[in-house]
Amino acid sequence: MIQTQPNCTDRVETGLIHFDTARANILSSVTAIGGAHRLPIEQARGRTLACAVTAPIDVPAHTNSAVDGYALRSEDLPGSGTTGRFTIVGRAFAGKPFEGELAAGQCVRIMTGAPMPAGCDTVIMQEQVERSGESILIDAAHRPGQNVRQAGENLRRGETALPAGRLLTPPDIGLCASLGIAELPVRRKLRVAIASTGDEIFDVGAVPGNGGIYDSNRYSLLATLHRPDIEIVDLGILQDRPELLLDAFNGIADHADVIISSGGVSVGDADHIKTALQTSGQIEFWKVAIKPGRPMAFGSIGGAAFFGLPGNPVAVLVTFYLLVLPALEKMLGITDRPVAPMLKARALEPIRKRPGRTEVQRGILLRDDDGAWTVKTTGKQGSGILRSMSLADAFIILPHDSGNIDAGDWVTVQPFAGLW
Ligand code: AMP
Ligand code: MG
Repeated sequence: MIQTQPNCTDRVETGLIHFDTARANILSSVTAIGGAHRLPIEQARGRTLACAVTAPIDVPAHTNSAVDGYALRSEDLPGSGTTGRFTIVGRAFAGKPFEGELAAGQCVRIMTGAPMPAGCDTVIMQEQVERSGESILIDAAHRPGQNVRQAGENLRRGETALPAGRLLTPPDIGLCASLGIAELPVRRKLRVAIASTGDEIFDVGAVPGNGGIYDSNRYSLLATLHRPDIEIVDLGILQDRPELLLDAFNGIADHADVIISSGGVSVGDADHIKTALQTSGQIEFWKVAIKPGRPMAFGSIGGAAFFGLPGNPVAVLVTFYLLVLPALEKMLGITDRPVAPMLKARALEPIRKRPGRTEVQRGILLRDDDGAWTVKTTGKQGSGILRSMSLADAFIILPHDSGNIDAGDWVTVQPFAGLW
């Protein structure tokens, strides 16, 4: 299923694979799901467009006025240093055009959006005329064709309005409405099953037993997956028993496109995810050179891609956003989406970093006096400290080979604003 990249030296030495290799492997082994259906446009925001949308009409459909003013023929505009007087012969409103035709020296009072009367090609803003009774006086400071919106200047009939694979945004929906399109073909939702694992894990609302803790991972995942194009199958909390895990995963493998678990992926005595994956499916790798997130399994069970995320709550979110989400978006068929920005920011403090693994710290973005981005960490960065993530507004991504960061060094930052 996965081809090992030639530069994967880490894997040979330690069993850890480079973050870039892990990401490339995951992306190359998942494919877009099939299946599409039509949806009313008001429900299509956040869904993937299944086929390109071609404009069925010109937008605007009619050449029309961009301002409130007076429409006239450009050949009647006064020459430089002179003025021109025009007689008002009618009125044109949006939705109620002027039907007649103009003779020399005539104009039509016109409102924004009203179709241009026959023969007229220029509009003078009402603030720029001197009006007396049913005539106007204008100076020579006007250009032929000014203040007019040409038919089709937005989109021409037959032009591609939106490409297939577009993750539909609010303006995309408005654009379709401007074309008179009431329904759009969208890809079906991606079915994602999630589970927490661990004998110590209790659901909110329950009373944790001795040594027990609340399940935060499943709720972090429910929240990250709460989007219009994903259908979540919640498998709940699974005990650390290999046969239970196998039953749960096998039971859902043919009904889900993706299975995501958290916990149980390390090498402790209660860590059975790797074995479950080996028994029931295929395991591609289970250790990535990333901190937090080192134990992270990827493979497949039945027809479902399988992500065995670490147990630590921060590691879950880091590996989800950096390794799982790109795969989900590929499976959703998204090939055209608003960019999730990556910034360069100056570190406001030294950051310890060990070469040989990608490290992802949680940062707070600030702007310096010149408006340039700076970043500081949220303090303690332990992979169990979920508050470090909740306080943050960006990941600070320190690449594999980099060592310690000094205050003032440039670092790469991925704002959460593009992620959720
Ligand atoms: P594990 O890899 O299963 O040993 O989990 C690593 C750490 O993450 C342990 O301290 C677990 O208690 C904790 N953990 C695992 N699953 C969850 C969860 N669903 N919610 C919160 N913490 C968890
Ligand atoms: Mg566990």
